Amino acid sequence: MQYYSLNKKAPNTSFKDAVIKGLAPDKGLYFPKSITPLPKSFFDDINNLSYSEIAFEAIKQFVEPDIPKDILKKIITETLSFGFPIVELNKNISVLELFHGPTMAFKDVGARFMARCLGYFNKDNTNEVTVLVATSGDTGGAVANGFLGVKGVNVVILYPSGKVSDIQEKQLTTLGQNITALEVNGTFDDCQDMAKNAFLDEDLTKKMQLTSANSINVARWLPQMFYFFFAYRQLKQKNIVFSIPSGNFGNICAGMMAQQLGLPIAHFVASNNENNVVTEYLKTKTFNPKPSIQTISNAMDVGNPSNFVRIQEIYNNNFEALKENLSSYSFTDDDTRAAMQEIYSNYNYVADPHGAVGYLGAKVYLRTNPTAHCVFLETAHPTKFLEVVEEVIKEKQELPAQIKGVMDKKKVSIKIKSYEQLKAFLLK
Ligand SMILES: *Cc1c(COP(=O)(O)O)cnc(C)c1O
Repeated sequence: MQYYSLNKKAPNTSFKDAVIKGLAPDKGLYFPKSITPLPKSFFDDINNLSYSEIAFEAIKQFVEPDIPKDILKKIITETLSFGFPIVELNKNISVLELFHGPTMAFKDVGARFMARCLGYFNKDNTNEVTVLVATSGDTGGAVANGFLGVKGVNVVILYPSGKVSDIQEKQLTTLGQNITALEVNGTFDDCQDMAKNAFLDEDLTKKMQLTSANSINVARWLPQMFYFFFAYRQLKQKNIVFSIPSGNFGNICAGMMAQQLGLPIAHFVASNNENNVVTEYLKTKTFNPKPSIQTISNAMDVGNPSNFVRIQEIYNNNFEALKENLSSYSFTDDDTRAAMQEIYSNYNYVADPHGAVGYLGAKVYLRTNPTAHCVFLETAHPTKFLEVVEEVIKEKQELPAQIKGVMDKKKVSIKIKSYEQLKAFLLK
């Protein structure tokens, strides 16, 4: 597959190159040149396919010919070593649980897939890469875990000191080996600015291959398509609508790619916290990025969702076509807390704040579309947001093994304050 830059000022490139570069030289996001729908026989037969077989069929056109089929199958099997169960809350609403991976956030799948692709591209030690990633919480842990021990890949994680949860901090500072955590005296926006400066800094890019492991990278973004196929296979319903708690809009954009491949999805709901740029866009046709607002669903505190340009590309920048397929609603922290309480009281189900925002979006959509079956995504395990979950449902939560496992490990980080310190670290 060839990829082009959405800024249209850089040459087309291969999957391999798109993964190693992250962003095109003109700073545009890469997008596949073509999307060929899967044959009808694939959907007729889907119940007889394993999850790995489904994933292979879904993604192969996007990585060919850079990764041979047998290697791709191995990468997929290793990536998908845990479950993706659906829990039905009532006849109209189900939850798709995406938190059964090693760091208990949905980002595990993309991080594990991307790490293995880079490992394969570096198999002859010719493509040493430094992955630089800024995190507000979950990305750091998933990337650290996914890339641990991958030969020829060094990972540098920038995180804001004191602004990630204890569990999240442990997940990204305790692994060692090829993973380094830089603890930034500043906010998440400062971390992201530092990373952006580094990608633009020729002193660095001349000397080293820097790439990103955020969802702008096609190898982290595209595997997220798998979830939607797995949900479809488990559900017997027609008229499936996905409500997706959205931040950078990578996950929902991957769902739209699955739909382009022919997966019967009736509609998408982008469920937002108070960072409502897309909700406002669908109302006013004006895309107006804003500084991010801090909320209890902090992985969605994004004021300028980077993948939205990919969504617009899918719909040929046709506002009406997009609006037919996408609704978006925004909710406050009080709404979110009330939803967590309601889900617990009505269904005895513990949702994390992000999933609760997804549930709220599903409920609003169902008011005017009562025959739909809405699936909301549970993007993180509730104990990753222990404080707010226990405060709302007033019950102690048992920590899962993945989380207990990191709690008493020793944090190792390097404290930095400025871009100059990051640059000096990268150059040494
Ligand atoms: C990253 C993240 C999101 C947002 O996903 P996007 O692809 O950025 O829209 C939602 N929930 C959780 C828990 C996350 O970690």
